[in-house]
Amino acid sequence: MTETMIDTVGIIGSGQMGQGIAQVFAINGFSVLLYDKNRETLQKAKENIKQDCDRLIKKELIQNSPYHLNVHLINDLKDLYSCPFIIEAIPEDIDAKLSMYKDLDVLKGDTPYYLCTNTSSIPLSTLNAVLKHPERFMGMHFMNPPVLMPLIELVLSDKTDKKTLSLLCELAKTIKKEAVICKDTPGFLVNRVLIPMINEACLLVDDDIASLEDIDKSLKLGAHFPMGPLTLADFIGLDTVLSIMKIFHKEMGDKYLPATCLIEHVEKGFLGKKSKRGFFVYS
Ligand code: NAD
Repeated sequence: MTETMIDTVGIIGSGQMGQGIAQVFAINGFSVLLYDKNRETLQKAKENIKQDCDRLIKKELIQNSPYHLNVHLINDLKDLYSCPFIIEAIPEDIDAKLSMYKDLDVLKGDTPYYLCTNTSSIPLSTLNAVLKHPERFMGMHFMNPPVLMPLIELVLSDKTDKKTLSLLCELAKTIKKEAVICKDTPGFLVNRVLIPMINEACLLVDDDIASLEDIDKSLKLGAHFPMGPLTLADFIGLDTVLSIMKIFHKEMGDKYLPATCLIEHVEKGFLGKKSKRGFFVYS
């Protein structure tokens, strides 16, 4: 299989990131097969992608073309049988991802395919352990929202081969993203710095040091952040932030203990913008 043959991308998980990644590939002319085990989420994803494409066309950020038509919803994992390149964007849950990879390997049999994960924090050496061809697996970590953020982190596992890395570098160029390459380490580059910083802001909330608004305002006006750390946490999803902190804690010790307010918000179902309530309320 050569790089130039990849014109179809399968995406598993049509949540926040899956739909954004689908949009990026669709805008750049790929045919996208989008799968989610939740049919309602899948339908909603297609509507969101169309609405977002319309919004970007209006703002003249992308050309006026019906890109959303490149996105095809699939209701069965089996429809990915002949898809040569798959990106997994299901929740940050090790067992769920491992089980998905086993299903994919069974489905694919001897048909070669490349698999990338959008995981933010799970060690790739844990995920590749169940794969028949770990050399064709690596991390392709998009930032949120994928369509607007120029960076992707390409993460090498201990077994990724050069051909896979070269394919991913080529694809990154085709979808007009700036790639950085890093080794398999908790949080990679961006989240290793970003998520503990968000957790630190949450610790200020735990200790009732200042109002939520003032914590955000201080970083915006005092450090030129485009949005405050608590708002950013709401946009990422508090469940995702918590999962990443838990992995950092497990891998790197007590310095990375998640803040209490983060745990409590997630327990209450206040997951951020996606559930219309996190640290702040969204309409
Ligand atoms: P999300 O909860 O918004 O979406 C996950 C989707 O996967 C849901 O629609 C769910 O129905 C679906 N799903 C769950 N199990 C499935 C299965 N077995 N088969 C098919 N679909 C399944 O999560 P998200 O925020 O899009 O995060 C997805 C991944 O991307 C995670 O690994 C996360 O760490 C990573 N990530 C998130 C962000 C962010 O800002 N949210 C940024 C970069 C990377």
